[in-house]
Amino acid sequence: MFKTNIKSIYLEKRFPLRISRGIRAGSSNLFVEISDENENTGFGEGAPGGSEGAADIETAIQIAQDHIAQNPKFTHPVSHYRTSLENGLAPCVLAAFDIALWDLLAKQAKLPLHRLLGLPAPNGITSMTIGIMTAEEASERVQILFEKGRIFHALKIKLGSPEGIEADQDMYNAIYPFAKNNNISLRVDANGGWSVSDAKKMMLWLAERNCDYVEQPLVEGDEHRLEELFQKRPLPIYVDESCRFASQIKTYAHCVDGVNLKLMKCGGITGALEILNTARAYKLKTMIGCMSESSISIGAGAALTGIIDHIDLDSHLNLKPDIATGLQLKNGMILPLTENHIGHGSILK
Ligand SMILES: [Mg+2]
Repeated sequence: MFKTNIKSIYLEKRFPLRISRGIRAGSSNLFVEISDENENTGFGEGAPGGSEGAADIETAIQIAQDHIAQNPKFTHPVSHYRTSLENGLAPCVLAAFDIALWDLLAKQAKLPLHRLLGLPAPNGITSMTIGIMTAEEASERVQILFEKGRIFHALKIKLGSPEGIEADQDMYNAIYPFAKNNNISLRVDANGGWSVSDAKKMMLWLAERNCDYVEQPLVEGDEHRLEELFQKRPLPIYVDESCRFASQIKTYAHCVDGVNLKLMKCGGITGALEILNTARAYKLKTMIGCMSESSISIGAGAALTGIIDHIDLDSHLNLKPDIATGLQLKNGMILPLTENHIGHGSILK
């Protein structure tokens, strides 16, 4: 017999994050604990979002309570995922249950989550995100982020400013020399903030300034226009908001270089594995990103990184404080705290 517990915890950000669609200083996330009769407990986390089926924490809690009241079968995360998705469970709430069930399974098996999943150990450097800000603020932020040395090896710069591509260029220019001098990779995420012509201009401009790739150049829903960008593209194109589930990939696989999965969009680890398998079948590169999340769900994502090309698992590093302790940042990589870590192992304080 399984015991479930749900709660919300407010996660305050060290630096508020501004992207093309708005600004956030913090958020309340849904936390799910599922325990078995042997006192193993799996932890899961869901970050509410309108596009992920629950716009706020109150809605997410209500949906989670309703889900528990329906006595879902927690026999295996894959069957739970399949049934819940068919029943229309909000992806961000499903993610919390799915992560908790995989964590529980890993703890029952006494295996790190990546080994339970048959994956290589977590590896790969993570980007650190810099939200939309003025050029002056961006220069200051870089100094603060690197005041203790080169702890990050890649930066993801949020562009697509509502103030236009000149503001984007000013911000990028404020960071670019520092990154070049310190051998730090740069990536750009427009969060759908560009028109097709802005995207064409910016991709050419960024390609001359050491940018690795651009993410979500066009707004979700405009996937049919990606072909215009894909021909003669000077930089690889990844989609994020346009890639929620594996089933969508076939519609634009011919005009993107890669997809960015997030546990909150696809409903957790089970959905993420489907995306990774599908993307590889279409010979696409893969990336994993995050919403506003703590080490609980970031740890679940980190367990998949051994087979992912680009990693952007940094939101827990911008919390004051993070509410869990299962992860470390080592050589620019997000890794479990110890080699023998069981599950993602994060502990709620
Ligand atoms: Mg993105």
